[in-house]
Amino acid sequence: MFTDRIARARSRMEAGNVDVLLLSVGADLPYLTGYTAMPLERLTMLVLPREGDATLVVPALEAPRVEERPEAFTIRPWGETEDPVAIVADLAGLAGRPARAAIGDRTWAMFVLGLQEALPQTAFLPASQVTGPLRAQKDAAEIETLRTAARVVDEVALSMRERPFAGRTEADISRELVERILAGGHERANFAIVGSGPNAASPHHEPGERVVQVGDSVVCDFGGTMAGYCSDITRTFVVGEPPGELVDLYEVLFRAQEEAVQAARIGVSCEAVDAAARNVIAAAGYGDYFIHRTGHGIGLEEHEDPYLVSGNATPLAPGHAFSVEPGIYLPGRCGARIEDIVVATEAGPERLNVAPRELAIVG
Ligand code: ZN
Ligand code: ZN
Ligand code: ZN
Repeated sequence: MFTDRIARARSRMEAGNVDVLLLSVGADLPYLTGYTAMPLERLTMLVLPREGDATLVVPALEAPRVEERPEAFTIRPWGETEDPVAIVADLAGLAGRPARAAIGDRTWAMFVLGLQEALPQTAFLPASQVTGPLRAQKDAAEIETLRTAARVVDEVALSMRERPFAGRTEADISRELVERILAGGHERANFAIVGSGPNAASPHHEPGERVVQVGDSVVCDFGGTMAGYCSDITRTFVVGEPPGELVDLYEVLFRAQEEAVQAARIGVSCEAVDAAARNVIAAAGYGDYFIHRTGHGIGLEEHEDPYLVSGNATPLAPGHAFSVEPGIYLPGRCGARIEDIVVATEAGPERLNVAPRELAIVG
């Protein structure tokens, strides 16, 4: 699997005229090697030249954690008195001075600056130009892992329809979401947004001490990591009889999300999927209240390529996995969002999240 991924990375390097790929913290490194770098001041870096052997430069004290894969890379542990930046620069220059190096987007500036100084003739570009499109297209095993993670948060969303909301703080409901995500088998909960009443109009609201009231809409957006892959779902709840304003808005939002999911066919551009949701919302007069892109890719990271946003003409391809999550937010009043993870397949869009998405009336 890793040798295959490395081969695909190399053919993209070839096409993009990249001489060496340099990967440190972030998801690109585990994608290509199975190893996750510790986010520390000691440098871990994979040096992957377009031709020749790949080397994982790793602090000696972390070398025992590395699962060896000699078919994919060799390990170069460095001791406390060595200069890891010089080691990486040497390895990068083995086949002659690299003209273009692609460096991991999340690499600490300290190391990027050091490498730029050590390799003054080299142009640096973000590694996502090489790895983004590779990681975006999931294979069958990755999709199965995403599906398993999605099932867990589906169950959480479903169970919350039976739970009381009124009289509890947002923070309390958020804690319950985290507990249920972990109880469902996720190794980590990454976020559990709970925005109630006027806070529901703030898409990334930090759950706080506000007590949920009758008549509130409550946006719950939560997800975590399971077997290395992320889940992400949003459902909107209403406490008691929904106010007329919310019923109207939600009917529009429901149609917008459905339209965008159905638009997500192979060959359709990312921006066209965004437009499919946006057009429904705009036609109903809520265009100014849909203030974010329609979705993001998901995989090893909760947000990755492809992004469903105006300006992204990338056509959807088989295995692209992404969220479809339009929202309508009326400042100071209320808000709602519906989010599912969707995979583009030859047979059409497949929702990985299947929990009911109708407005959930709770107590
Ligand atoms: Zn978000
Ligand atoms: Zn989300
Ligand atoms: Zn999302």
